[in-house]
Amino acid sequence: ESQLNPNYSFDNFLEGDSNRLARSAGLAVASKPGGTSFNPLLIFGGVGLGKTHLAHAIGVDIKDKYPEKTVLYISAEKFTQQYIESVKKNTRNDFIHFYQLIDVLIIDDVQFFSGKSGTQDVFFHIFNHLHQNGKQVILTSDKAPVDMQDIEQRLLSRFKWGLSAELQSPDYETRISIVKNKLYRDGVEMPFEIVDYIAKNIKTNVRELEGAIISLIAQSSFNKKEVTLDLASQIVEKFVKNTKREVSIDYIQKIVSDYFQMDVSTLQSKTRKRHIVQARQLAMFFAKKYTKASLASIGSQIGKRDHATVLHACKTVDNLAETDKQFRKYIDDISKKLTL
Ligand code: ADP
Ligand code: MG
Repeated sequence: ESQLNPNYSFDNFLEGDSNRLARSAGLAVASKPGGTSFNPLLIFGGVGLGKTHLAHAIGVDIKDKYPEKTVLYISAEKFTQQYIESVKKNTRNDFIHFYQLIDVLIIDDVQFFSGKSGTQDVFFHIFNHLHQNGKQVILTSDKAPVDMQDIEQRLLSRFKWGLSAELQSPDYETRISIVKNKLYRDGVEMPFEIVDYIAKNIKTNVRELEGAIISLIAQSSFNKKEVTLDLASQIVEKFVKNTKREVSIDYIQKIVSDYFQMDVSTLQSKTRKRHIVQARQLAMFFAKKYTKASLASIGSQIGKRDHATVLHACKTVDNLAETDKQFRKYIDDISKKLTL
């Protein structure tokens, strides 16, 4: 049993700038498994950007072209469970042997191995054996190898042997084709202004994009609701709310001042004390990043400053983010709170 999902094919993995490299590397691997320098092929990227889909597509395509090859798809989590089970049952060698006989091994979400040294160790041996014998390994991860934590160095260096290809958030054109394709496959027609609205408002996650479309199709065909922009906006709201609340400048000032344990009035005050100035500059930086407000409007809302001050604040924050590790941590922490 390969555990491959035939619905995840290359055909319905739509191409765009955001995935072109990863997709073509996948195609190359599928036409010559183990025979390219893309070994391992590591596909990385954020949630819902198509890592699992692409990993399956490669496996499905290989099975198609080379029916005699054994292809196995498994999540890193399941692999770990199986390994632990084998240790309990004293069948660790069988476990290793089983995996060493596979021609194409696809392991999804290898970030799950982090901190699990036993599993990493066993995978290291399996990997080496497969690689030495010209077998193909395909991995996915939510992070690039350089950013992976609690993974042994020797394994990380193996991850970097082949090609690491990133899946990025799809651009507008690609989002449009994904939505259109979904509608087409479901045999549903929808006015372009609706398609456009969905594609413009759901940007960072293909799973959410699909979810919104499915929900819209359901509302129109089962609940017989008319597909209007209003309905589309209610649905988008539901999907986007969960991940990205619209943040206001007031909210940003509140989060930043809470983080530095000061009052909003202190953050807005005229004082030139360094830590207060930094907090104010961070608030301006985040207002620029997360709202559509103009520099002038940001300045006037954060302690009645002018647009040049806001611009200077944003530059200062950018610079500090490059040079100051502690400051970068402030930015990360506050970002997380703002986008929660
Ligand atoms: P990940 O594993 O990165 O979290 P998935 O592979 O589960 O993401 O993808 C989420 C959903 O988005 C799936 O239904 C998948 O089919 C779809 N999807 C992602 N990228 C594309 C694409 N380029 N074209 C078509 N569908 C896509
Ligand atoms: Mg996945």
